[in-house]
Amino acid sequence: MQETVYHQTMARLKANGIHITPQRDAIIQFMIASTAHPTAEMIYAALAPQFPRMSVATVYNNLKLLLDLGLIEEMNVGDVATHYDFALIPHYHAVCTNCGKIVDFVYPGLVDVEQVAAGKTGFAVSGHHLEVYGLCPECQVKLGKTNN
Ligand code: ZN
Ligand code: MN
Repeated sequence: MQETVYHQTMARLKANGIHITPQRDAIIQFMIASTAHPTAEMIYAALAPQFPRMSVATVYNNLKLLLDLGLIEEMNVGDVATHYDFALIPHYHAVCTNCGKIVDFVYPGLVDVEQVAAGKTGFAVSGHHLEVYGLCPECQVKLGKTNN
């Protein structure tokens, strides 16, 4: 699955005339493999040992490029930093209000919402987002709270 996504991504970049530098390649591979919804700083920190002369600006520039191609999504989930998510399959997010962890979940039924919204508003709907908020299992233990 990840390998297919990687090859599709490379094909997409080539089709758009985008040169694939070693840094760009590494950032894309990191984004595809990561489930942690990293910030630009997290990506930079992970790849800096491999590319000592790479700057944070290079990471930002590459993220901007992937955003413009619709390959990744920008997420603002309440903390100050912007997180990035590779758009593998449509999914939703559960965000921990204590530690900021973002966990993926799939809820296919919500696709209907776009049709209802289009019907009720006349919009040509292109997408939607859903985040649920709460305490992750680890933070529930840490804070001595349970869900109910
Ligand atoms: Zn947490
Ligand atoms: Mn996600």
